[in-house]
Amino acid sequence: MVPTESLEYECVQCAYREVTEDALLGSCRRCGGEMRNVEPVRD
Ligand SMILES: [Zn+2]
Repeated sequence: MVPTESLEYECVQCAYREVTEDALLGSCRRCGGEMRNVEPVRD
């Protein structure tokens, strides 16, 4: 059980990144490319 969690997505075409709580972010709002989930990297 995970509370509301921010997800980070990166466009495979233009590398535009967006952080959202929506798990169903479909396409890049900048170029319309495919968005893929990015694993959070925290030191
Ligand atoms: Zn894009």
